[in-house]
Parts: sequence; C-alpha cells; structure tokens
Amino acid sequence: MTTTHASRSDQERTLLASIPAGLLIDGQWRPASDNGVLPVTDPATGEVLLEIASATPQDGADALAAAAAAQRRWARVPARDRGEILRRAYEAVVARTEDFALIMTLEMGKTLAESRAEVAYAAEFLRWFSQEATRIDGRYSVAPDGNSRLLVTKKPVGPALLITPWNFPLAMATRKIGPALAAGCTVILKPAALTPLTALLFSQVLIEAGVPDGVVNTIPTRHAGAVTGPLIADPRLRKLSFTGSTEVGQRLLKDAADQVLRISMELGGNAPLIVFDDADLDTAVNGAMLAKFRNNGEACTAANRILVQEGIAPAFTERFVARVKELTLARGTDPDATVGPVIDQDTLDKVADLVADAVQHGATLAAGGHTLDRPGYFHEPTVLTNVPATARVMREEIFGPVAPIVTFSTEQEALELANSTEFGLVGYAFTSDLNRGLRVAEDLEVGMLGLNSGLVSNPAAPFGGVKHSGLGREGGREGIEEYLETTYVGIANPYQSADL
Ligand code: NAP
Repeated sequence: MTTTHASRSDQERTLLASIPAGLLIDGQWRPASDNGVLPVTDPATGEVLLEIASATPQDGADALAAAAAAQRRWARVPARDRGEILRRAYEAVVARTEDFALIMTLEMGKTLAESRAEVAYAAEFLRWFSQEATRIDGRYSVAPDGNSRLLVTKKPVGPALLITPWNFPLAMATRKIGPALAAGCTVILKPAALTPLTALLFSQVLIEAGVPDGVVNTIPTRHAGAVTGPLIADPRLRKLSFTGSTEVGQRLLKDAADQVLRISMELGGNAPLIVFDDADLDTAVNGAMLAKFRNNGEACTAANRILVQEGIAPAFTERFVARVKELTLARGTDPDATVGPVIDQDTLDKVADLVADAVQHGATLAAGGHTLDRPGYFHEPTVLTNVPATARVMREEIFGPVAPIVTFSTEQEALELANSTEFGLVGYAFTSDLNRGLRVAEDLEVGMLGLNSGLVSNPAAPFGGVKHSGLGREGGREGIEEYLETTYVGIANPYQSADL
C-alpha cells in the first residue's frame, strides 16, 4: 500500500501509517483478492492520504461466509459478555479520541472540533448498546381463552450487511454495529469509499476489544454495487441496514425484496427549520447555526430550508447573517477553522450550482456565495434570502454550507411549506408557545423534531425518518429491535391433563 503524505505533520504521518490498510475478513487483515486498491484523498488538499485494499466480489463472498459461519457461535455468547465487549470498545474509542478525530478530519474534511464531537457521539452508541444487550427479553402469558400459554422470545436476525455514508464515518458505523453485536448478529461493514480509514481503525479497535473472528468483517471497495449485490441476493444474509441517499436506498430496497430481507433505511432529508415570531431570538439563531453549519452542512439532519415568520424575519436575518460572516473557512486541521471543505469536487460543483440557480431565480446573496480558488473543495458559508419556491435549493438536499431563508405569514402556511417535500427526516421549530410547538410536532411529517433545539441526534433516542427519508429507527430502545426476530411458542394448557 502506498502513501503520499510528504507535506504532513509527524502526528498525521504516524497515524496514517498505523491504519490497517487491508480487508478484515474472518479476523484476518488481508489484501484484495485481485490486489486492487482504493486511494483515499484529503478533501482539504486533493492529495492521496493512503491507498487501501479494495474488496472484490470474491472478498465480499468470503466476508459473508465468515459472518455466516460465526453467527451461531456469536448468538450463543452470553448477552452480558457481548455487552462487555462493546463496553471495552466504547472505552477504547474514547481513549483514542484524538486519533479518530484526526483521521476523520483528514479523510472527510470537517474541523477537528466537529470530529471530536462525532467521536463522543459515536462512542455513546457503543455504551448505550452495551447496556441494551442485557435487556433483550420476552414474555410468557396466558391466552385470553385461558387455554394456550404464549411464550415469546427474541433472537438475532442473523448476518447483517451494514452500508454507511461518508459524512459521519464513525457514528454511522457505531450506530449500526452497536445494536447488531448487542443483539447477537454478525456483520459485514461496507464503509463509504470516500472515508473508509475511520472504519478500518474502528474495526481494529473492535478486534482488540475482543470481538471474535468472523463477527465483524470490514470490506471497503471501489465497486459498491458489484460487491454488495451478490450478498443481498444470498439467502445467508438476513439483514440490510443502509444509510445514504434515497436514490441508492430505493435501488437496494428493490434488490432486497427477492430475499425478503429485514431492512433499515436511513435516507436523505430536506429539513425545514421554522422560526415563529414568538421565538427567543438568541435561541433561534444559535439553533439555526447548529442545524445548518454542523458538519459543514453535510448532514442528513441539516436545516435545508429556513422558514421565518414575517415579524421576526428582519432581526433574525440580520443576526444570522452576522454570525455566518464570523465563520472561518479553512482546512479542518487548522485550529481556527469553524467550517472545512466539502467532501469532493462533485459536491462542490453541486453546491455552487444550487447557489447560482437560486440567484438566477431571484434570490439575494446575503453572505458568502463563492468557492475558494485553492486546492481542495472549499465553498464559503452562504446565506440566500428571498428564495423563491421555484429554486432547486428549496427542493433538493443541499448537503453543503448554504442557508436559504424564506418568510411566511401564518402557522398554517409554514406547515404547508415545511411538508411540501417527499422527505420527512427531521424538522426544527422555534417558538415560546408550548401549544404551538406541540401542534407542529403533531402536524409536521417527520420522524424527529427539534423543539427550540438545532440538534436532535442522541444515542438514547430513536433516529429515523418517514416518507422518502427511510424505514426503521437507529438508537434508543428501538435500535436493537431492528436486529431481533420474534419467536412465538404456542404451548398447550398445562392444566389440561392434570389430575388436580
Ligand atoms: P450514497 O451515495 O447513497 O452512498 C451511501 C453508501 O452506499 C456508500 O457506502 C456507497 O458506497 C454505497 N453505495 C452507493 N451505491 C451503491 C450500490 N449501488 N449498491 C450498494 N451500495 C452502494 O450516499 P452518500 O453520498 O455517501 O451520503 C449522503 C447521503 O446520505 C445523503 O442523502 C444523506 O442525507 C444521507 N444520510 C442519511 C442519514 C440518515 O440517518 N438518514 C445519515 C447520514 C447520511 P460508495 O461510497 O462506494 O459510493
């Protein structure tokens, strides 16, 4: 495996050299069966960070064979022991916060502060599910007619394919691996081709924490469809958990139908953030900054449309624009950076096109609006006002540091605007009227609502969307259910033949 990091600090070089650059299959690190490699680049410079093994369909088949062979053994490991392994992994991730933060910043671009926050968030899924492992239960009951006895138990669904995106390279992996291992499922992790290094480091930590051979298999690849397609078609695979775009999710849903696979889909978003006249201005501005610019705006939960009621709109816009102008766009490793580069040239081009399209349709550029003329993929934090409904930015997921603001006059109008999308992941509402907040919670077509809060992600809460934003929930008590099957045993009345 070759590396190109002549201009890197000693710390970066040492970390890159320590990343296992192979595929993890059945507890062994190995090259791809065709010796193919996947170059991983730094979005802040465009330079190659590291070349790692790129799995072939044969490697995928080996990973599934290993996961299937380990399934029965792993399911029989006592829940307490599975939980202890996850707990050790939690402690190891926290202890290595700086390594995980740096590798994420290098391969994904976000600032080190953002990466550290992701490490803390990601680790919590391991702690949460280390505890949930011991709470898998069932029930015994007497049927209503007083005859049959009903025994209901839970068991792991079986080998699971976990496909993750590039925007939260660690948290999207722990949010799936945590509940899967807790439930007793073996897994094949297919991380995004753009950010596989974090997943490789995390896989190494899992092995060190005591995950047995074959239980976690990690296969980065340049050929996502060719490698995962045969796995989805294989009857030994029993579960697919996917986080990524709606477009790819829809395709995978169709493929998964043939084997009637258990499915979890965490897909795209187009979050409305609604600021009502009665909102506390500071809370609303802080919430909007967080909901929009966290993770460079590259979050499925990012506020995509900021809807502001007419009375508060001038004050909100002035304060929000001033805050956006204070952001510092720089390489994620720069201690002053508050926003980093976007992930790649395609994303940079898409974000620039969306801004140009909005301006062409009559929107006003209130802050930013340009790409930087330097290596890497930098787009200024941008605010657009007076954005017409016809602009693409109102309908498409932006996935970048661009905030479109539109005004509304009534609560009814805000809800209609907010719901006028096929997506339904998350919404945000800022109001000091509790009843209004509760009405929005009931009427907004979303899986999650941030009420006077610009952040909803919490390992103890069920994360997920409705409509085209997905199926199923990750995190919370619901998260482990996605990896469990229910078995019901019908038992004859034990008193039937008793001589009492
Ligand atoms: P993406 O292009 O859909 O890719 C997601 C994952 O799917 C990657 O690992 C990708 O591999 C893989 N993939 C792509 N084509 C595939 C195929 N034909 N068969 C099997 N796997 C395939 O999405 P992305 O650009 O990485 O992530 C951004 C999207 O994820 C946004 O829409 C965002 O909203 C969504 N997201 C949702 C959540 C949520 O919880 N709802 C969280 C984070 C992100 P390659 O990398 O090799 O293409």
